[in-house]
Amino acid sequence: MNDARSEDPVLEIKNLCVSYGTGSGEVRALENITVTLNRGEVLGLAGESGSGKSTLVYGATRLLSPPGIVTSGEVLYHPPTGGEAVAILRVDDDKLRQLRWNDIAIVFQGSMNSLSPVFRIERQLTDVIAKHRPASSRIERSTRARELLKMVGIPQDRLIAYPHQLSGGMRQRVMIAMAMALNPDVVIMDEPTTALDVVMQRQILQEILRLRSKLNFSVIFITHDVSLLIELADRIAIMYAGRIVEEGPAQDLYRNPQHPYTYGLLNSFPSLHGERKEIVGIPGSPPDLQNMPSGCPFTPRCPFAFEACHKSMPPLTGSDQFPREAHVVACHLHSADSARVPIELSSPRVRGSV
Ligand code: SF4
Repeated sequence: MNDARSEDPVLEIKNLCVSYGTGSGEVRALENITVTLNRGEVLGLAGESGSGKSTLVYGATRLLSPPGIVTSGEVLYHPPTGGEAVAILRVDDDKLRQLRWNDIAIVFQGSMNSLSPVFRIERQLTDVIAKHRPASSRIERSTRARELLKMVGIPQDRLIAYPHQLSGGMRQRVMIAMAMALNPDVVIMDEPTTALDVVMQRQILQEILRLRSKLNFSVIFITHDVSLLIELADRIAIMYAGRIVEEGPAQDLYRNPQHPYTYGLLNSFPSLHGERKEIVGIPGSPPDLQNMPSGCPFTPRCPFAFEACHKSMPPLTGSDQFPREAHVVACHLHSADSARVPIELSSPRVRGSV
């Protein structure tokens, strides 16, 4: 983790709402998401498939494909040089093109689908540089491509390889190298290690941490595996049914999860340390966004649900145990007007550290 992280925002997402138009009507995929990435920090976004993690970053960077549409909200990018913030949802296409790769880069899920199978690695790296630095010479681009591969620990002779000639881990490293090509300020990583075995996953995570401390970019790291984020992230936001249900410093969230869903997620992974315990998991499935339950969307799966949970959606607010700004949770167990005493969710198990 980055001890030197500041409270200086680099990307602010405010009240973002996204809907998908379907034949049977509107599906509200994101409801009023507000989250801030500070300069130099790693913000982890975790939740099950369909919770809205990828929709959030694609909506915020205008990469959503139809029928997805941002219906309201604001996304502000603060350049490192100071000056006026850029309203990403409102800038013209030219400005948006400049912003992508230069300032905000994305490592997409599935390197095999993201790299072109018909071009060599060198061509794919130099194309990104040529597009955004048209004045650069061929030699400069080629030199930079070599530097980038070296930076992510791939031998330079692999520049002439096609993607299918590289292992899954190497391809993912190429994707990370490509994201670093123009020294961006913000790197969004969408499940970059999901398809890799645990050894390779660990190597890639260490690589990301090493690069982050060397180049000082900020990261949004998306994963369904919250245990990965405990050591990697400075802060974690847990998403469920298109909403943030808990957000806090990674270690606080691990030691003292406040939302029953966070607790369930943390207990869904086996531990490599300590006594052997049965994995509990979370019963049931995420809700159908077209048929959301009334009140808290976690009600049908929550072992702590009570009357208030069926009636209204709890607001995202400070819990009794943490200052409002540092650790927030959306659960009636922690609502000021709840008659319930907050439950004691003991520190859960996670697997070995990164
Ligand atoms: Fe469970 Fe109620 Fe909290 Fe929702 S609001 S997580 S149903 S206790």
